[in-house]
Amino acid sequence: MILETLPVGPLQCNCSILGDETSREAIVVDPGDDIPRILALVVKHNLTVKQIVITHAHIDHIAGAHRLKQLTGAPILYNQNDLPLVKMMDVQAGWLGIPTPIVSNPDDTLDDGKLVAITGLTGSILHTPGHTEGSVCLYLPDQTLLLAGDTLFAGSVGRTDLPGGNTSKLLRSIHERLLTLPDDVAVIPGHGPVTTIGSERASNPFLNNL
Ligand SMILES: [Zn+2]
Repeated sequence: MILETLPVGPLQCNCSILGDETSREAIVVDPGDDIPRILALVVKHNLTVKQIVITHAHIDHIAGAHRLKQLTGAPILYNQNDLPLVKMMDVQAGWLGIPTPIVSNPDDTLDDGKLVAITGLTGSILHTPGHTEGSVCLYLPDQTLLLAGDTLFAGSVGRTDLPGGNTSKLLRSIHERLLTLPDDVAVIPGHGPVTTIGSERASNPFLNNL
């Protein structure tokens, strides 16, 4: 697998490009900003973007998706439970003091258990509400890789004080859907350094009280 992760935009959201070496098809996860840098990596690896996956509809994760779709023709996929956040994109832009981006409705919704596939690479969607109602993680069992969005971080968990956030739902999602994965699964969070399920199970201070 070809894997590139680059922090984009003012909040340094981790955007990941997942590509298959043989088919040269790619999935881009959370193109929140810096679309020219993302496209430069796509071109460098001679990839064709086939799917745009958004882990949740916070502006730092979704703001560049419309532009990337315009440039690649790839569909935008996210969970419909985050549509209320899309409708308040102007409010979200106000949080950051930036212009309101164009954010389209999803071409398909990412329900729990849905498979997101390109030729040579298949991930499944884990619906993990808590940071937002529509938060999802993308799990690639064959690559022992989880793209966790803002649900789980190295040594921390997603904030729940923004609209749609719910702490007990977040902790339930992490315990029931993420900590049940194998220890050696690498985790690329929505922000900050990579980690593993085993490391978070052992030492994440936010997960020891249940
Ligand atoms: Zn977020």
